[in-house]
Amino acid sequence: MYRVAFAEGDGIGPEVVPVAVRCVREAAEGSVELFRVDVGWSAYRSRGSSLPRDSLDAISAADGLILGPLDVGSYPPGDPGSPSPSGRIRRALDLYANIRPIRSPPWSARQFDLVIVRENVEGMYADRNMHAGSGEFMPSPDVALAVRVVTRGECRRILRVGFELASSRRGGLALAHKANVLRMSDGMMVEEARSMAASYPGVRYSEALVDALAYELAVDPGRFDVIVAPNEWGDVLSNEAAGLAGSLGLAPSLNAGDSFAMAQAVHGSAPDIAGRGVANPIAMVLSAAMLLEWISSRRGDRRLLEASASIRAAVDGVLSDCDPGVLTPDLGGHGSTSSMESAICSRLARGR
Ligand code: ATP
Repeated sequence: MYRVAFAEGDGIGPEVVPVAVRCVREAAEGSVELFRVDVGWSAYRSRGSSLPRDSLDAISAADGLILGPLDVGSYPPGDPGSPSPSGRIRRALDLYANIRPIRSPPWSARQFDLVIVRENVEGMYADRNMHAGSGEFMPSPDVALAVRVVTRGECRRILRVGFELASSRRGGLALAHKANVLRMSDGMMVEEARSMAASYPGVRYSEALVDALAYELAVDPGRFDVIVAPNEWGDVLSNEAAGLAGSLGLAPSLNAGDSFAMAQAVHGSAPDIAGRGVANPIAMVLSAAMLLEWISSRRGDRRLLEASASIRAAVDGVLSDCDPGVLTPDLGGHGSTSSMESAICSRLARGR
């Protein structure tokens, strides 16, 4: 029995996470035990921290985590979970690879199926690139500085994930970088990528400046297979890809390390639609399916691989049906989170 923790998080989290939890419970019945941990606003209100120590301990002792979106920008100053509970979890459990697959829905005129592999523990974002203190600071009221961290070891780790993934997919890997101006930092990533490419003769390696790649992605997303990117470029490119698919509600993601993984959708807490029952649960459901597949690959347990495949098949089925009464408004339908949940779960039940 694998133990998977889950936390609803903020905004639309309490609407979409329970759908993902139900799907895992139904698809992996008898092999996964799910238990709740307190993270985010609910934890802050009841315990005074958006990431209480015992939540982090319980997460660390589990086989994986399903984490809802967190509205970190709204946490009060002085919150001990600051600057971001997900950042602290990522660093505590060394979740260095953020794997973000995105596929166009069946009705889309432009079909594509790609994965963005985003470096996850360094770069420029201040919630992740320092051991202590913050990577962003102000020497005076009118001067703000942000430190960008790139290390050779991290470049190699994330590139290895990208090359392995490309080898298991259609064999294409494009590196997004800005080494023309960030010659030392992104330059290091390019140098390591070129050298690793030599040991993957089966992978078609290419590299492009991130601005050019963003344009190519918008023009012809179908030509990409795996895109590896430093943290901030990967963040932006994956939202662009989600937009090309039609909605952030279709974009799952897994934060993976060597011995732990955390499912967390690409989208944020979507405060504009929170509480209205119209959030698309697919991104969260597919993130949870990725977690099951990851646990299966690490523990060599086919039951979780099958559970993951059955969740994906159920989601594919619902998208192929293209029933406007079921689909949420972001996909052009007039359904709700609960109509999507019923449709996915009834397909799951039929598949068993
Ligand atoms: P945060 O600050 O937490 O990142 P945000 O509003 O800046 O929140 P997102 O939460 O990612 O960013 O939302 C961006 C847009 O995408 C919003 O209009 C939101 O309603 C929409 N959106 C995000 N997730 C979903 C979803 N699961 N279903 C439908 N719409 C979504």
